[in-house]
Amino acid sequence: MRVYISADMEGIAGVVHRDHTGRDGKDYEQARVLMTNETNAAIQGAIEAGAEEIIVNDSHGTMRNIYVELLSNKAKLISGTPKKMAMMEGIDSDFDAAVFIGYHTKNGSQGILNHTYNSRVGTRIKINGKEYGEFGMNALVAGELGVPAVFVSGCNLLVEEAKALIGNIGTAQVKRTINQVTSENLHPDISCGLIEKGVTDSLLNCKSIRPYKLDSNDYQFEIQFSSTIFADIADTLPIVKKNGPLSVQYNTDHIIDGYLIMRSLIMMANNYA
Ligand SMILES: [Zn+2]
Repeated sequence: MRVYISADMEGIAGVVHRDHTGRDGKDYEQARVLMTNETNAAIQGAIEAGAEEIIVNDSHGTMRNIYVELLSNKAKLISGTPKKMAMMEGIDSDFDAAVFIGYHTKNGSQGILNHTYNSRVGTRIKINGKEYGEFGMNALVAGELGVPAVFVSGCNLLVEEAKALIGNIGTAQVKRTINQVTSENLHPDISCGLIEKGVTDSLLNCKSIRPYKLDSNDYQFEIQFSSTIFADIADTLPIVKKNGPLSVQYNTDHIIDGYLIMRSLIMMANNYA
């Protein structure tokens, strides 16, 4: 069995503030250790389910957060950015399952540290009229390659967001959102235990979880930004059309093409931010 793990930071137990998630934050080094430990719990859970190859993609910010020397030697680590597939770098159709650790709710929702991909450009993403956060978008990328999203960890509201898309996905709720910068956290020993057991159970059950796909082969992406100049920058690409002061839209035949265009638009906007 080959298992793909995408690890973000905002949904890790104990991580509540930009001081944790930003490289210049006073609590960043602590958050890196917490993130590495929850990722290790997922790796251990995958080993117990019989995984033979495990690839971890560091998916937060600079994507240079996980301490490679503290990571289990059972996994390989993709570290660094920019990378073409960003939070889904390294995914391919030969994986049996995708696991998501430390995820958070979409921009504008109530969940702790909510955002969608880039807080500076304030992205919101709709596909065929429905809004997706990072979990939903990344699960669609895996799904187009035939890889089921079998497990996700994060706050209680992230668990709700994920289950609304994939009813039988395995989950670990490692904290309860109180507000955008406050949560009630499990002790890391407990969060890691839930993740390890949850990943094992989900992988043993992975044949019953279908790859997450939309019932369409024409995808209309709508990207909304927090500032009109970001939409004007995105509008310089011929495939893209402005559909309001803050938003653009474009159509693709494939989810991954739409995802890659979205990544480019965010990078272009971020360059100006
Ligand atoms: Zn994120």
